[in-house]
Amino acid sequence: MTSKSPNGAPDGPILEVEDLSVSFGKRRGLLDLLRGRPAARVRAVNGVSFRIQPHETLGLVGESGSGKTTLGRTLLRLYRPESGTIRFLGRDLTRLEDGALRELRRDMQLVFQDPYSSLNPRFTVSQTLSEVLRFHGVCAESEVDARVAQLLDMVGLSPDLAGRRPVALSGGQRQRVGLARALALRPRFLVLDEPVAALDVSIQAQVLNLLESLRAELGLTMLFIAHELSVVRHMSTRVAVMYLGEIVEIGTTREIFEAASHPYTQSLLRAVPRLVAERRQRAAVLKGDVPSPLAIPPGCPFHPRCPKAEAICKSERPPETRVSATHVSRCHFAESGLEGSAARLERKSCATHS
Ligand code: SF4
Repeated sequence: MTSKSPNGAPDGPILEVEDLSVSFGKRRGLLDLLRGRPAARVRAVNGVSFRIQPHETLGLVGESGSGKTTLGRTLLRLYRPESGTIRFLGRDLTRLEDGALRELRRDMQLVFQDPYSSLNPRFTVSQTLSEVLRFHGVCAESEVDARVAQLLDMVGLSPDLAGRRPVALSGGQRQRVGLARALALRPRFLVLDEPVAALDVSIQAQVLNLLESLRAELGLTMLFIAHELSVVRHMSTRVAVMYLGEIVEIGTTREIFEAASHPYTQSLLRAVPRLVAERRQRAAVLKGDVPSPLAIPPGCPFHPRCPKAEAICKSERPPETRVSATHVSRCHFAESGLEGSAARLERKSCATHS
């Protein structure tokens, strides 16, 4: 059981994920049916382990198809894991019955990339928020209107918007409504799945600043999923990098951005200034596409694209190498030893100042 600090927050991690795997059955094609072949299974998340401490933001990055969204949704038990454990506030979500799971889910909410598709188009903003408050019995009926006004204020929306439907809101306003809906239950943990990817660049900064101030004000813990590295750097305390369903590197934001150890992370970082340019240029940095999860390469799954691959990479799965007390990399050639990150950061610092 997780102990509690005097202010009621757990002393240990708020979330502990151990060896989590998730797979889905692929729909059988006509040929499979005729030949009596069983449905193939797609391994979307493969043996993932990590922890999130109270009040921190863990950024989760990787190309599309890396398993980020599946992992985020599995943490909320929107998908059933194949194996592994998810301990939230000390309780294993994979073993909870539906009733207990529903109760615990109030503490963990999801903010979608596209709030438009998750908001009921027939409901006004006020109806959207009051429905959540009433359904979960968050406050007395007499307090619902005041709580709706408070939520709108919290996310920086004018009370004049309460009577509007989603179609009459801008993308940024819709995302704020989605955030207000998630906050209505006063959760401790938010999974934000590409929360600004669908917004104009000028609006992105406003929403990111709002998220950061809400995190500090409400003491939230966050898993921040994004493919845009600059956004993750701005928001995160630590960063995990996913490739083909595995976390290949995890460390503090500084370790990942200034002393990345894994060739995949290094390639992603080299691609950053070019992501805004043409895809053709990006391909020169990170060759090829992510392989299908139906045919994960043996050994290190990154080896067909890795500029540093050697013979061992094709046959042996790399171990997790502890690069520093807070930095782990899954590569055969990661610099091991607790001085690994510090040495790289030191070299980087010298290079910057010379
Ligand atoms: Fe590249 Fe080999 Fe490291 Fe995989 S284990 S990232 S293929 S060097």
